[in-house]
Amino acid sequence: MHVDTQSAIDNFMSEVRSRNGHEPEFLQAVQEVADTVIPYIVQHDIYHGKNILLRMVEPERLISFRVAWVDDKGEIHVNRGYRIQMNSAIGPYKGGLRFHPTVNASVLKFLAFEQVFKNSLTTLPMGGAKGGSDFDPKGKSDDEIMRFCHAFMSELCRHIGPNTDVPAGDIGVGAREIGYLFGAYKKTRNEFTGVLTGKGLSWGGSQIRPEATGYGTVYFAQSMLQTKGESIEGKNVVISGSGNVAQFAAEKVLQLGGKVLTLSDSGGYIYDPDGIDEQKLTFVMDLKNNKRGRIMTYVKEYPKATYHEGKRPWDVKCQIALPCATQNELTGEDANQLIKNGVIAVSEGANMPSTPEAIHLFHDHKILFAPGKASNAGGVATSGLEMSQNSLRISWTREEVDVKLRSIMSDIHDACTHYGMEEDGYCNYVKGANIAGFVKVADAMLAQGVI
Ligand code: NDP
Repeated sequence: MHVDTQSAIDNFMSEVRSRNGHEPEFLQAVQEVADTVIPYIVQHDIYHGKNILLRMVEPERLISFRVAWVDDKGEIHVNRGYRIQMNSAIGPYKGGLRFHPTVNASVLKFLAFEQVFKNSLTTLPMGGAKGGSDFDPKGKSDDEIMRFCHAFMSELCRHIGPNTDVPAGDIGVGAREIGYLFGAYKKTRNEFTGVLTGKGLSWGGSQIRPEATGYGTVYFAQSMLQTKGESIEGKNVVISGSGNVAQFAAEKVLQLGGKVLTLSDSGGYIYDPDGIDEQKLTFVMDLKNNKRGRIMTYVKEYPKATYHEGKRPWDVKCQIALPCATQNELTGEDANQLIKNGVIAVSEGANMPSTPEAIHLFHDHKILFAPGKASNAGGVATSGLEMSQNSLRISWTREEVDVKLRSIMSDIHDACTHYGMEEDGYCNYVKGANIAGFVKVADAMLAQGVI
């Protein structure tokens, strides 16, 4: 890299660090974008000298609020709620809500920043945001979840709306929580609008929305494999997580003829040498979604499988890896192991699951590697389709939505190859996604002036 470009990156990062030095996840996400986008800015006069990236790393608005709620024993608890409204240059803010004890401003800022690029890549008019709380839903009764969601929305409802900011689910926020949040919004504002996505089908939800992130991650993997004359069929696939994204990634892999060997949760992973087929996956979905159980229960039901407590699944031999749990869950050491075991493609279902060391190794070994902001964009894209259906007051069929999802994922793949193809024919999808996502938002920001 040219010396001036490297010093532009270093100067930029030192300014970002001086304001956000205590936010490691946010800095990690910004560094990756700076490394790939600043060289592009330096070469393109219309973006150069406008401090666009510096404007993009500063949230337009960061809202933090108290959420007080009462448990089943009558005890009062206090959690912290957030909404980070990062960028609205190309549309209303859009991004999920995460309920997990690890939630803090750094985690949500990294997620909101990534969301800006991801939403831009979908080609739909959506700005970027993220929110949530350090509330831990594990072990809470349904009533406690409902009271928490109602308390959370009693403040959030002042800051969102169908033309302002449209949240969705994320870790710890699924169909049940979206229902309680929507109920509270509707009651307080006396409005039935498309203010949240991921709603139930009978009250404004879209077909395929629950499946979309996992399906899209696999569609993206399929597009990458096709560039090498390969496909999912007959491949061994290792998946982490067992929540929404992991479940539907597994379902799509099975539909395309792949063999799913693992699933995991924060306790450990299960390995089934015979493969997790449709029937076993139905068991997992019931276990996780209805019984709210742990993945270790799988080995009681299917004794040929093994449970690996406290471990992640990356040492299991496979050709395709789909990290679908959480950030920084796949390290450099894990990447080395996957490469040694012959992995050919990694498609991220989660947000930023691979560490920078892991990504460098995948690039150095010319592995097909899809960053989450491209490969998991199917979820928010289908949320965008839900918003369109709500505005038009119509519902598209399952087939119609799936066709649109496939086409969006294929367009995102093409946008990445447009900006990420290197001279030797290897596509750097990280660079491609970052530049393609940046260009659309930057053009809108330039058109709207300094605000
Ligand atoms: P869920 O809450 O449905 O599932 C999360 C899964 O990841 C669970 O199996 C959970 O295990 C595991 N997990 C969570 N935190 C950790 C951790 N710290 N260490 C190990 N395992 C962990 O969430 P989703 O499936 O919706 O989200 C998964 C990922 O996909 C997240 O990174 C999210 O941001 C991303 N994503 C989700 C989208 C969506 O539409 N839902 C859209 C785009 C990205 P346990 O049950 O033990 O906590």
